[in-house]
Amino acid sequence: MKRILRRNTLILIFAIAFICGVGYFSFELIVNAESWVDQPYNAHVSGSGGLEQAGVIFDRNGYILAETSDGVRVYNENPSVRLGLLHTVGDNSLNISTAVQSKYRSQLSGYNLIWGLNMPQSMRMSHDITLTVDAATCAAAYDVLASYGKKGACVVYNYQTGEVLCSVSTPGYDPADPPHIDETNESEYDGVYLDNVLSSTYTPGSVFKIVTSAAAIENIYDLDSRTWNCTGEKEIGGNTVTCTETHGEIDYKTAMSRSCNIAFAEMAVEMGRDVMNQTAKKLGINDTYEVDDVKTAKGHFDVSKADENQLGWSGIGQYDDYVNPMQMAILCGAIANGGTAVNPTYIKDGSGDLLRLIGFKKPKEHNLMNSTTASQLDEVMRYTVSDYYSSQRPGLFEGLSVCAKTGTAEVGEDKKPNAWMVGYSQDQDAPLAFACVVENAGFGFEYACPVADAAMKAAANCLRNGG
Ligand SMILES: [Zn+2]
Repeated sequence: MKRILRRNTLILIFAIAFICGVGYFSFELIVNAESWVDQPYNAHVSGSGGLEQAGVIFDRNGYILAETSDGVRVYNENPSVRLGLLHTVGDNSLNISTAVQSKYRSQLSGYNLIWGLNMPQSMRMSHDITLTVDAATCAAAYDVLASYGKKGACVVYNYQTGEVLCSVSTPGYDPADPPHIDETNESEYDGVYLDNVLSSTYTPGSVFKIVTSAAAIENIYDLDSRTWNCTGEKEIGGNTVTCTETHGEIDYKTAMSRSCNIAFAEMAVEMGRDVMNQTAKKLGINDTYEVDDVKTAKGHFDVSKADENQLGWSGIGQYDDYVNPMQMAILCGAIANGGTAVNPTYIKDGSGDLLRLIGFKKPKEHNLMNSTTASQLDEVMRYTVSDYYSSQRPGLFEGLSVCAKTGTAEVGEDKKPNAWMVGYSQDQDAPLAFACVVENAGFGFEYACPVADAAMKAAANCLRNGG
């Protein structure tokens, strides 16, 4: 009797262990199967990069960016489109982890939980993906950016819907002919797998004056009647802060349009560490944004331990300030939207995603500033373009009412500065925010501005023609 009881107990223990094991396995399968299929090391699951039965990737106008033909992945025939969209679309190597072909490989291959990769063709839902990007805009921005032979990024997005129309990162390579990179040539291909729009941060230089301006609008009550005196350099906190020019006596609006370092360094010192830290935090500088399933690189601003001179430099985007290009486009979009930032997205509504199709996933919104601050920034950034930039470069942003700020960020004595331009258009038929950066290039107005100009004109043209 005792023996039977012991045997029954053992059987029961085994049965419970078995049920728990099956339960655990099922749970893991349901939760993780899709991401297992997505792993590059599982490329053998369906051969050549796992893309031999992958669906088509379209741009917003139905232009084919990548498709599989006879089991071979084929990319767009236009080299500027292929190279310009490399980091968004991806290639067969799946080394660009943030690209659509890496991130959504299982979706593109028609993977589902019940059939795995072997779903009968007749029962398949479409496994194509339509992106929000416009191939022509990406090609236009890429051609200008790549002509410098530098690292850089350019993003343009619709600040009302969140749709990204242009996202370009350099350096890259042709996805139709990916390089074999090993220790003998890796320096030549440094940074090619990185999407600088989403995953890099840069010293902002004067584009950070937008943040210092937001702080000044809310904390310096007589801002519009104040003047500063710029002699080209000034002793602040026992050390020198330099300006690019000698601006003389200058008011706030002109200090912004002519980018006077002395005025903005003095504003930062006057407002103090807490106000600067709080404003940067509120504007999302230290945050990451979720763009579809990718998190943007976090910027950095912290003057808690800065001395007075460093606090001055922090207000003009130097010290140890860092920002991400997508983050700057989001900030500019928020100014255009009266303070509310709409999160960007690369995937057109419903495309290849059931949750998106039934409206479960909507672009997230964040309030970055109040509407009064937004409208005053709007005014000063519009003045910056109309008072100064437009007169320097005839035809700049022609057909658009653009508000913008350039930056020339010093990154060390032996290197050329990072060239920046960020901003947005006020036009309701082309509600576009942008950020362009060219690493170690030179003046923002000389290098980043032509990229922004090409991208904004092409993107506006796309929207105005119903694209
Ligand atoms: Zn100055």
